[in-house]
Amino acid sequence: MIDTHVHLEDDRLIDDVQQIVADFDKDGLQFVINNSCNLQSMIKAYELAQKYPNVYCTVGMHPHDAKEFDSKFEALMMEYAKSSKVVAVGEIGLDYYYDLSDRATQRDVFAQQIEIADKLHLPITLHIRDAYGDALDVLTAQKNYLNNGVLWHCYSGSAEFARQMAKKGHYFAFGGAITFKNANKDEVIRSVPLEQVLSETDCPYMTPVPFRGKTNYPKYVRYVVEKLAAVYGISFEQMEKAIEQNCKRIFTKIQ
Ligand SMILES: [Zn+2]
Repeated sequence: MIDTHVHLEDDRLIDDVQQIVADFDKDGLQFVINNSCNLQSMIKAYELAQKYPNVYCTVGMHPHDAKEFDSKFEALMMEYAKSSKVVAVGEIGLDYYYDLSDRATQRDVFAQQIEIADKLHLPITLHIRDAYGDALDVLTAQKNYLNNGVLWHCYSGSAEFARQMAKKGHYFAFGGAITFKNANKDEVIRSVPLEQVLSETDCPYMTPVPFRGKTNYPKYVRYVVEKLAAVYGISFEQMEKAIEQNCKRIFTKIQ
């Protein structure tokens, strides 16, 4: 199994990282991608990726922290991206639910990081919440820079919007939320072709059923893969294989 979105650098997991990673084999995990959110988390994510062979990372500024984006941060992104373990720019995007940075700043920093990703020949991992319209506006304005793949992390939009984006070749990662009772995500999942779907946990957040409410771990991606396999009507092993192929197609630095 592959978890394309973890936060092992989070305070809730960082003390247990050694054990979590040591258990990957036993838990059936091939590798994980640790996403960055701000300067502190990017430094930690990069260090983890350097230390552990089966931990990759991204570089980027989360929309929550967009107000902290500056040329020094950009320079560090460029520096880190030279590493073979840095596989994407993320998580970047817009979050109008929390509005922790003002919206104009979020849009501006999102657009800038799309251009950085293009310079680095890396795909982008999107965090979009309550902002699908504006996200599409930014992506459309920056379409000349979208040459290396787009991944919608923790996708929570409509089936119709997913279909439109899937036609452009975008990928979609689903996490624990699809396992919740009354989630009603089957139609949304089905709107994404099997060749464009990925599994994630967003741990320590978004814990799937049956552990909902507790700390999330990469190994719980199993419940996400199970749910995806059920919706696509294929075996767990076929689902795992499809995710692996999709992952290596969009994250070209992972082979
Ligand atoms: Zn995240």
